[in-house]
Amino acid sequence: MDDVYVRKTYFSMAIDPIHVGTGGYTLGRADNPILRDFDGVPKIPGTSIEGTARTYAYFQGLALKRECAKGKKDACGQCKVCVSFGYTGEERSQQGLAIFSDAKVLFFPVASLVGPVWITSPGKLKELGIQQDTSIWENFDKSESCIVSNYLKNKLKNVGYLNFGWLLLYLEKEGDQLATHNISTNTIFGEDKLSFAQGGLDKKDVFDRLVIVSDSVFSQIVNSNLEVRTSVSISPETGAAEEGALFTYEAIPRGTILQFTMVYQNPKHFDVAGKNLEDIISTVETSFELLEFLGVGGMGTRGFGKLKVFGLDKRYDPIKLAQIRVDTMRKRLEEIDQIIKSASDEEQTKLEKEKREILEEMKQAREKYKQLVEIYEKAAEGG
Ligand SMILES: [Zn+2]
Repeated sequence: MDDVYVRKTYFSMAIDPIHVGTGGYTLGRADNPILRDFDGVPKIPGTSIEGTARTYAYFQGLALKRECAKGKKDACGQCKVCVSFGYTGEERSQQGLAIFSDAKVLFFPVASLVGPVWITSPGKLKELGIQQDTSIWENFDKSESCIVSNYLKNKLKNVGYLNFGWLLLYLEKEGDQLATHNISTNTIFGEDKLSFAQGGLDKKDVFDRLVIVSDSVFSQIVNSNLEVRTSVSISPETGAAEEGALFTYEAIPRGTILQFTMVYQNPKHFDVAGKNLEDIISTVETSFELLEFLGVGGMGTRGFGKLKVFGLDKRYDPIKLAQIRVDTMRKRLEEIDQIIKSASDEEQTKLEKEKREILEEMKQAREKYKQLVEIYEKAAEGG
């Protein structure tokens, strides 16, 4: 891997409703609207993904010290987290070598008379650079009809229309036949000419139930089928509901497929010593793994935000991760021993505390893994 940079498209699925707010004012039908793209379709901004991923990379043990999780003053400037996500120090600063983009809705789930279907639009597909015959849908902009898959055609040929929530669209015809698109897990997209399945989106049921609608209808259906939940503010003092404290918030629904692109720049071309392109990709992909469990955006404590990112084939496995953690801890201990002599009294106390914490963490990890080994050894002996 000696490229100057690598570009990779990721597909992801909302496991929970996802709420990334606009930060404030009441407008429209929810008190807490979500952030939208220029076409009115909700998105997760790259800055939100980046901030969350940085924290999760730290959780995974990839930062040299706690301050690296924030990337501000006192960040080390050299560890995998600092190099991948950048940092702004007092004397030096460096842009991150991983560049994040907004996550955009690609396939959006809606209830219909034949069960759940996912809608997409010519604009959404063109953004991906679909590499097959696109003539059926490329310029499709009718607001009264839609183009179904072959699977849905067979289910609907005697019906002639499909509903998306409350909206009814006719099935587009080609001559006297129903028009069908041929977007599937095998469809090739992008510069790298990967199929959706190779890009990690190997979900036949989603593609079987995929419907193409015009760009304006897409935005309309998405906006009338967002999750809108009502909640109540709990007073922190009394623990009871506050009077008049009902509020609503919007969210991208569960089952939505989003896509985003990462650009990974090669450290070798940016005068960063001791790191390579693999380090940057693996750091970010290892952090993405936690999005599935810890989520992105607001309202996390109310069961919001979990996002499964597909195609994380460069993430560190648990063994490699343990090796990196141990190396990082040892490096930090050495560093502390070096700087502690010339530090102020106040600094010395802080560094000694950090040293004790690292040693304690190492000891606890060793105890835990000893017990795990025992459990598996017993099992292997048939005990
Ligand atoms: Zn660092």
